Parts: sequence; C-alpha cells; structure tokens
Amino acid sequence: MNYAYFLVYFVFHMLLLHRLTNDVLFGVTEAMLISIFVYMRFMMTIEATLPNHSVQNCARCQKMTPQHYVHCDKCGRCMSVERTHYDFVEACVEPSLFTRFIYMARIMVALNIVCCCVYILVSPFAGTALVAVHIYVLKSTYISVPRNIYVH
Ligand SMILES: [Zn+2]
Ligand SMILES: [Zn+2]
Repeated sequence: MNYAYFLVYFVFHMLLLHRLTNDVLFGVTEAMLISIFVYMRFMMTIEATLPNHSVQNCARCQKMTPQHYVHCDKCGRCMSVERTHYDFVEACVEPSLFTRFIYMARIMVALNIVCCCVYILVSPFAGTALVAVHIYVLKSTYISVPRNIYVH
C-alpha cells in the first residue's frame, strides 16, 4: 500500500458510504480530511533554498549540490541528509513530517471504522465486511523504515 492506493481507498469509501447512507455530513467531513491529506503530502516535499552554500559535485546526477546533500537512488536526485526515503510517499521527506502524515492517515482510517461500526446497525453483513477492510488498511500503515537515505 502506498499513497496513491490510500487516496483511491479514501475517495472510494467516501463515495460508497455517501451512496449507501445518503449522509451529507460524513461526505463533507471526509472530503475535508482528504484535502488535508493531499495538502500534507504536497507540503512534505517542499525544499528550502539555502543561499551561499558550499557545494559539491554529484557524480550520478552530474550537478553541483549543497554539501549536506546525498544522492537518493530511488528518487534519482540529491536530497538533504536530514531526509529519509519513504516508499509510502515515494519521496525523500523529513521523518517528523512523515510521522505526522501517517498519523493523519491512521486517524482517517479510524474514522472510517467508527462510521462502519454505526453502519453495521443498518446492514450487518456489508458493515462487517467494510470494517474488516479498514482494519486491514490500518494494519498496513504500520511499516518499519530504516532511517537512512542511502539506497544502493
Ligand atoms: Zn545526485
Ligand atoms: Zn528518495
């Protein structure tokens, strides 16, 4: 599971539950949370430009880069050493920002679980199936990543 799958899963669940229950409030809440989710993904990848930095030459991307930058093979570009490559977002991001992002994803899945627990009262079979899917998705967010940008 990565970011793209999560986005499809959230949007699909929003549309599905809106269709099943005709609940506008849930749809609006979920749409707002999805926009925050996308916004956080975008904000993580922004890089600060540091002026007057000493530079080095990166042999792989054939470019002059700041000295505290290392090359990431998966992204194919140089990144600040404070960053770590995460396959979940397919980018090098700061670990603290990624932790916030993954908590946000978990909160959204938890909200889906709560909504489907209520939906069990209406339709026991479909509700239970949805809760099972959400628990599987929630479990897949617990991934261990080595705190390292070097990928060889
Ligand atoms: Zn490079
Ligand atoms: Zn990377």
